[in-house]
Amino acid sequence: MTQLELSLESTRICISCNVSKPISEFRTRHRNRKRDGIVFVYVNVPRSCKACEARYQKGYNAIHYSTKERSLRHHREWADPEKRAKTLAAFKTNSFKAARSRYYRTEKSKARIQRYYETEKGQTYLIAKWARHSRKRQTAFNTLTAQEWRAIKAGYQGHCAYCDRNDLPLTLDHIYPIAHGGTNTANNVTAACWPCNMKKRDHTTGWIPNEPRGSRQQSCLLDSMSP
Ligand SMILES: [Zn+2]
Ligand SMILES: [Zn+2]
Repeated sequence: MTQLELSLESTRICISCNVSKPISEFRTRHRNRKRDGIVFVYVNVPRSCKACEARYQKGYNAIHYSTKERSLRHHREWADPEKRAKTLAAFKTNSFKAARSRYYRTEKSKARIQRYYETEKGQTYLIAKWARHSRKRQTAFNTLTAQEWRAIKAGYQGHCAYCDRNDLPLTLDHIYPIAHGGTNTANNVTAACWPCNMKKRDHTTGWIPNEPRGSRQQSCLLDSMSP
């Protein structure tokens, strides 16, 4: 008895519709493998049944082909020098820039960006952004990692280091500002709500962060205040 016959006799549960169906209901594919001069026939049985695959394909075609048509139209328009000039001119106008900045000022887009910043990926992005920012300003020490930032934030348990409110997401704040030669290291970073962060800007005096509520101790705080 070959493997092929075995497959045809058994049944399989389709992962899409969760129904146990005979193998004949699946679109089997036969693969020939040559090993030591002997050809073995393998039967590959997909995990979805024929009916489910057809349904999936229909949905795929609906999306893929409509996009394809649209992109073809774009290509045709781009090939036309007159239309291309018009599109480029529109792109370069202030009205386009104004429309874009209007969009970024809406609550919807702000909320969307905030949601992104709160994800794991967004946090990594912010850390990379701060590293870039401090590299540009030639900060001497630039060692803050995403892990350290998460630990700092966890230490404050959602409370702002300056005003203690806990109803806003915490943002990264450099205790001694980067602009004045502060370092981008764990001991110079604290968690603040955005209104505090905005108010603090690059002030060096009058802003002393509270101790974190968790176990983390900011023992190097005083060192970092005087670079
Ligand atoms: Zn199915
Ligand atoms: Zn605050």
